[in-house]
Amino acid sequence: MTTAPINKVMPLSLVDGPGNRSTIFFQGCNLACAYCHNPETQNQCHHCGICVSGCPSGALTKADGRVNWDPEVCVQCDQCIHVCSSNASPKVRHLTPEEIFEEIQKNLPFIRGITVSGGESTLYPHFIKELFTIARAHGLTCLIDSNGTTDLTSYPALLALCEGVMLDVKAWDQQTYQKITGGLTNAVVKKNLHHLACCNKLEEIRIVCLPGEVDAEAVISGIAETIGENVTDVKLKLITFRSNGVNGRLQNTPSPDDTYMQQLLQQAYELGFEKAVIVS
Ligand code: SF4
Ligand code: SF4
Repeated sequence: MTTAPINKVMPLSLVDGPGNRSTIFFQGCNLACAYCHNPETQNQCHHCGICVSGCPSGALTKADGRVNWDPEVCVQCDQCIHVCSSNASPKVRHLTPEEIFEEIQKNLPFIRGITVSGGESTLYPHFIKELFTIARAHGLTCLIDSNGTTDLTSYPALLALCEGVMLDVKAWDQQTYQKITGGLTNAVVKKNLHHLACCNKLEEIRIVCLPGEVDAEAVISGIAETIGENVTDVKLKLITFRSNGVNGRLQNTPSPDDTYMQQLLQQAYELGFEKAVIVS
């Protein structure tokens, strides 16, 4: 039986692609971005038990070296997330695609599709394929939200089952990419960018903008050069960095000002991104 670690199934979301969607957040990421807004999805729990005693409702217990979570008792205060220094969560469930769909099914009258997010959902490509097969059989559209580090050219059947990928392009220069993500190379991200544009599966591109940390101007130019004539059709989101939820060295960093964001938007327009927007 195929299972994957799931941090959360959000029944209704308006920010994870077009229309109302259910979003599935996978646990585990191969990057550790300095500006990550949900760092508790980065790592798997190693059952140290530090979070157990602070749980106000008794939803956490430790037995046989494992921390167990009782969702029936949990009051979702997130105290366990705040005390975990490993960027993990004890509230992770190992679910099959069928079990996930069972949770989504009750939303069918209200949703247009599903989006897999994370963590990094493409670390589980075969699992996602199974989930998308079930979702499509029920008339739902399917989107992947990804950091682009899994070589999607190796998964044509998965891409065939989804409407598109919402791709994060976090930096263009290799050193900048390593500094902001902890990842070794963005070569695969660039390969995916080109491939997804060529096969019409690039749903959206996202850049988190923070001068001094992210080379947003270089990212915009690099994307334009890589996707060529597709530049006019693709949605480009210029996301204003916000420190809410961020842990570590950027947690007190101020957001860029409107003038800077408008300059980036202007650059994007000049390069032909007709669907570029600023996300505040
Ligand atoms: S969630 Fe964090 S603090 Fe709690 S048991 Fe797991 S690793 Fe330890
Ligand atoms: S969110 Fe964590 S600490 Fe709060 S009640 Fe649930 S398990 Fe306990």
